Amino acid sequence: MNILKKDFIFKDINKLKGVGPQLSKYLKKRKIEKIKDIILNLPYSETDRSKISKINKLEIGKIQTIKVTVKKLNFPRIRNLPNKILCEDETGKIDIIYFNSREGYLRKIFPLNGQVIISGKTNYYKNKYQITNPDYVTNLENQDYVVKNIPKYTLTKGINEKKYRTISEQVTKNLPVINDWLSEDFVKNNNLLNWNNTIERLHNSNDSKENNSKSYRRIVFDEICANFITLSENRKRIKKIKKAKSFQEIVSNKIIKSLPFNLTKSQINTYREINEDLKNKIRMFRIIQGDVGSGKTIVSFLTISNVIESKYQCALMAPTEILSRQHYKLAVNIFRNTNFKIEYLSGKTEYVKKKRILENLEKGKIDLIIGTHSLFQKKIKFKNLGFIVIDEQHKFGVRQRLELAKKGGNNCDVLLLSATPIPRTMMMSLYGDMDISKITEKPSVRKKIITYSKPEKKINDLWDYIKKQIDEKNQIFWVCPLIDESKILDYSSAVNRFNFIEKKFPKKVGLIHGSLNKIEKEKILNKFLKKEISILVSTTVIEVGIDFPNANLIIIENANKFGLAQLHQLRGRVGRGIKQGICILLFKDGLSKNAIKRIKTLKNSDDGFYIAEEDLKLRGFGDLTGYQQSGVKNFRFADPVIHNDLFLLADKYVSQMKENINSKKFSFLLKLFDKAEIINVEEI
Ligand code: ADP
Ligand code: MG
Repeated sequence: MNILKKDFIFKDINKLKGVGPQLSKYLKKRKIEKIKDIILNLPYSETDRSKISKINKLEIGKIQTIKVTVKKLNFPRIRNLPNKILCEDETGKIDIIYFNSREGYLRKIFPLNGQVIISGKTNYYKNKYQITNPDYVTNLENQDYVVKNIPKYTLTKGINEKKYRTISEQVTKNLPVINDWLSEDFVKNNNLLNWNNTIERLHNSNDSKENNSKSYRRIVFDEICANFITLSENRKRIKKIKKAKSFQEIVSNKIIKSLPFNLTKSQINTYREINEDLKNKIRMFRIIQGDVGSGKTIVSFLTISNVIESKYQCALMAPTEILSRQHYKLAVNIFRNTNFKIEYLSGKTEYVKKKRILENLEKGKIDLIIGTHSLFQKKIKFKNLGFIVIDEQHKFGVRQRLELAKKGGNNCDVLLLSATPIPRTMMMSLYGDMDISKITEKPSVRKKIITYSKPEKKINDLWDYIKKQIDEKNQIFWVCPLIDESKILDYSSAVNRFNFIEKKFPKKVGLIHGSLNKIEKEKILNKFLKKEISILVSTTVIEVGIDFPNANLIIIENANKFGLAQLHQLRGRVGRGIKQGICILLFKDGLSKNAIKRIKTLKNSDDGFYIAEEDLKLRGFGDLTGYQQSGVKNFRFADPVIHNDLFLLADKYVSQMKENINSKKFSFLLKLFDKAEIINVEEI
């Protein structure tokens, strides 16, 4: 035994015996870069070599183990003929065949008249048993190494089981003894295992195949904890002391009174939460989650006016030109009776104007700057930035959020607006470092979108209806089937559909798809916005957040290809004005039970949070699309559906420690899951 030191396992894989440059290249392809990655590379199954079979009982085509006497070695001198070793036991004879093996080596491992253990896949050729290139040949003394269940790992070209074992067992058989970060009681009460036993079992039993075995659940728990602790540490770093903002809500109260509607309860609550944060001595780091159309924008404008009142500058960013322009127009309108100075800045702003804006920002002559992410650039300097609002950003990673918070400076509060309700487990994993406000209600004036489903073969029933819509000056989104992940196929289906519809309604149809660049896309969206066209055919991406108040019908083809949450997002594009929104889901025949359930859920509910949970339940985590970039998919072991309880447990466990997480205690865990760099935990 040669127990490894704790810090040794965080070294490069090439520090292991027998791992040279070539092998380490192969291993890195399997994401095994550091020695500890061997620990995390779990076997997917086992090979049973534990039974010694008699030759006459061998089963063809299976991996088996035999104990035989070497009778004859045959090394033909003719090229391309294999070397052949004849062996036997008391029940029969077998040929062991080698291609490309050296004679000296074979003579050594097959001593004439000696007994050997051989394990490999058997076949039958010309009335005789054979094993070609056996996996293992060993003398009887070392048979324990072979005659047993051997874990099976996913390997790449260039590494076979035997080779991988010589590397992996240096680690898995000599695990460093860890001072477990979970107490014995905690482990026992929650039906887990201690760390060393866990790793031991995961590599030497079927546990890793069963995602509810004690050991598998323990490693899942560890992974979730590593994630939560990282978020918690991130939060500590961001939520630092700042100067409290002070304001009397003078302007914002006036605005609230002048609105043509009453704020919903959810909006008021969220608004209050943000005001508290602004007045607090600790920096705000908050996200508003609310469905499309739930009224996040107005809430953010009200808070912006409070920040301006407290004599700070504000920056509002949105991902696209159109969306940010829409915000700008709205801001100018909402703040029309104030003396706030508002400017718009994007990559397209002309040079002279840009220069003037930058100067004024630095001099503090602008109160609110609205724009695209180009506001992030280094050269943009503020006199006293106090508030950053970022709309439609659910794709900021932990590290980016940290950078964002830094960018604003010490007195800057940060607010994100996200229109993608996500299940609770994901919420915790993604935004655990932020405070969360949820807007769950919709403005009461908004009518629930009516959702129909229709078989695709009845598509011709639609044209009269669409014609009527166009005559009434309504606008229509037409979402093309998602054929597969291939952009080219999705594109061609969209083009075909566009041509088809264009024939029926000449000059009234526009097309956008993934291969257009941002400028081309925005041009067409603008045409739609200005009502120059009535139907917008598109592949999945219709920009989130843009208000098309005149669009009231959305048709989604091959709707069962989309996830529930995605369908909900899509239908949220319509019904944002006064007209009743309608969504028609077109389906191919032969819907699965699951698909039928999903349609029902969608027809019955318009609560994005509920739908997100159902989506997760119905499809399972593995099938969820749309979250790839979000970071939740980065879990290697944890599955938010199967391990829901462990997410809750980890949440409780980590939040109990609150601000007092002993990062030393967890540094091994954080390094194991590559989290240490994110939060710079010092060496062990
Ligand atoms: P979100 O950004 O959450 O998708 P918006 O803020 O763009 O939603 O609001 C969508 C529309 O609803 C806007 O036209 C807005 O003026 C309107 N709106 C916002 N709050 C209310 C409310 N409480 N009652 C009625 N309409 C509202
Ligand atoms: Mg919005």
